[in-house]
Formats: sequence, C-alpha cells, structure tokens
Amino acid sequence: MLSGHLSVVRPRVEGMSTPDPVSSSSAPRPAPPSLVSPPIAVRARGLVKAYGSIRALDGLDLEVPAGSVLGVLGPNGAGKTTLVRVLTTLLRPDAGSAEVAGIDVLAQPKRVREVIGLSGQYAAVDEYLTGFENLDMVGRLYHLGRGPARARARELLADFRLEDAADRPVKTYSGGMRRRLDLAAALVARPQVLFLDEPTTGLDPRSRNDMWGVLADLVTGGATLVLTTQYLEEADRLADSIVVIDHGRIIARGTADELKAQVGGEVIEVVVAQAAQIPAAAKVLAAVGVGEPFIAEHIRRVSVRVAGERPAAALLVEALRELDAEQIPVLDVGVRRPTLDDVFLTLTGHAAEDQAPESGSDSSPKQRENAR
Ligand code: ATP
Repeated sequence: MLSGHLSVVRPRVEGMSTPDPVSSSSAPRPAPPSLVSPPIAVRARGLVKAYGSIRALDGLDLEVPAGSVLGVLGPNGAGKTTLVRVLTTLLRPDAGSAEVAGIDVLAQPKRVREVIGLSGQYAAVDEYLTGFENLDMVGRLYHLGRGPARARARELLADFRLEDAADRPVKTYSGGMRRRLDLAAALVARPQVLFLDEPTTGLDPRSRNDMWGVLADLVTGGATLVLTTQYLEEADRLADSIVVIDHGRIIARGTADELKAQVGGEVIEVVVAQAAQIPAAAKVLAAVGVGEPFIAEHIRRVSVRVAGERPAAALLVEALRELDAEQIPVLDVGVRRPTLDDVFLTLTGHAAEDQAPESGSDSSPKQRENAR
C-alpha cells in the first residue's frame, strides 16, 4: 500500500451545478447541512453515439455527485469507453448533452480539458523518457512553470512509490509501474474530476491490489472518480454507486448492496465430484431454484438463485436428497447472499469479463450453447 499522503485531487466545486434546486420565492436561506446535496460533478443527458447500425450509446443519462466514485460496469462492447471518450471531449456524441464540473462538454471542450484527468486502458506515457521526465513534461504542457512542474513530478513519484525508478526510462518499467505513472500523469494538474478507463485491466493480482490502494487514497482525498471496470470486486471496493450498462443503455443503477438486493433471495451451490455429473446436478438445482442454474465448469460448481417462502437451507437439503438418490457425489455445498457477479449475470446474461473462458467462466448451460 502507498504512504497515506495521496491528497492529490481536491475537487473544487465552484461552478458546478447543484442537483434539482428547490425554488423559493423568499430570500435564500442556507439549508441545514444534512439537507444540502453535493454539487453534481458529471451530468449526462440522452447521450447517443452510433457507428453505422451499432448504437454504442443509446440515450444514456447519469449524474455523479462531487467527491463520489461512480463505477461503470458492462460487458465488452457495452459502450463504456465510448461514454468516457464523450465525457472527456475526445468524441462528439450524435445527440444529448453533458457537463463536467458545471462546464458544457460540447460547447467548451477546452475548458473541460483543463479540469479533468484521464487515464485510459493503455498507459499513454513515453517509453523513452524517464518517469520523472514524463511527469515534468506534462507539468510543462499545463504551464505549471519549470520549478513547480519539477516539484510536482517529484511529489507524484513519491506518492506513487516510483521514486527509485524515477530516473529510468519507462521502457524498463513493469506493467503495474506504467499504470501508476500513467495515473500520476493524469493527476499532475490536480484535476477536479478523474476518468479512469479500466485502470487495472491486465495487471497481476498484486499490482491490481496496489492500484486499488492508490485509488482508495484518492477517494479519501475527496476525488470525484468515474471508473469503468470489468472487475466486479473493483466496483464493490471503490464505487459509491454503480451503473450497469449494456448496448449503450443503463440497465441498472444503485450501490453495490442495492444491486445485490435487486437480485434478491439467496444462492445455493454444490460442487460435484466429476465434470460429467454437472448436467444432472444442474437439473436437480433447477427444480428447487429460480431461473437457470449457473455453472462454473472449471471448479465443477453449480449454483442457482432461490427465493420464496421456503428457507434456502431447506431447499438445499431437498436438492442434496435428490442428488444422493441419483448417486451424484457432492464435495461441497453452500448457501450465500448474491454477489455482484450474480447481479451482472442476472442483468446482462453474461458472466463478468474477468472470468475469461480459459480461467473457467460461470455460465448457464444456455449461455454456453449460445457463446459468441
Ligand atoms: P470494452 O469493455 O471491450 O472496452 P466497451 O464497453 O468500452 O467495451 P465501446 O468500446 O464503447 O465498449 O464500444 C461500444 C460499441 O461501439 C461496440 O460494439 C464497438 O464495437 C463499437 N465501436 C466503438 N468504437 C467504434 C468505432 N470507432 N467504429 C465502429 N464501431 C465502434
């Protein structure tokens, strides 16, 4: 974990619009603190972007309160990157409007660029420059001045635990170090709103964990983050609220807990001894559950959502009796609350992308038949 002094993003909120102000004919009176809504740092209304017949964004609305973290989840091709590109002025939508820090993205893209930071899926740092030179260069591009640009570069290198590598060319850095440097570069000008497009995709678990530490520190420092991710654990850990998008539309929104509650009920699961027994076990679980069972073939686990009057434990016992009657040996059993994975599967019909087929994906029998 990083040293806890990553107070690098301090959102300045002047100029941001406040959500749905209550109009009043009398003189303005300060509302009690608990009733004051935070300003909105990012607002999008009816965003549409089409590529031929593909609607990458299909009438998308969202609001992100200042100082909060929005997690944008969705399967491959859902429109996440397109959304980030529109909000960061890199792409003009066909219809709709957006504001970042109270500034109109379409009318004043240059001003928006002055108040945002962007760290994309691929680290955009220069391989041949050192870490220090990269950050110093970004500071100069932002007209920080020679002394302040150098000081800021050193400060960020320390914050991101890159001091020892500061004077090495970036081409000698590991993937995790490049990502950290790229994020540091996005923070040079102390942006009010930070957009992170899949900040940890491709990192090994340790580097990912390190990066989550960095991002958690940013959040503690009061940053507004819009974070696209394929990792449900990342959204669960970092995001105050989550939108799930598919085919360019928001299909669910809420906190991680609200989304889990939306799936409802509980999940029962069994691990069978042999892969050949999975279909028969799935049939047994389907009889006690709601909807199709999900199968994680690589670990021979079959799970199904249960709901209704009867307790999940009673349904599990019934399923175990039936499995025993059919002479299907079971190695492990469990009852659990739904996870974000279950939410994602239920809403989109896809397993989360981090469960790549080679690592064994959770899928329903139907999903596997229909695999693209
Ligand atoms: P991923 O998780 O794979 O990065 P995503 O959710 O970020 O996916 P987008 O990259 O926003 O998805 O793409 C949304 C849809 O728009 C996809 O069907 C994609 O093929 C299409 N698309 C995006 N950019 C272009 C382009 N420049 N030309 C044509 N189609 C595009």
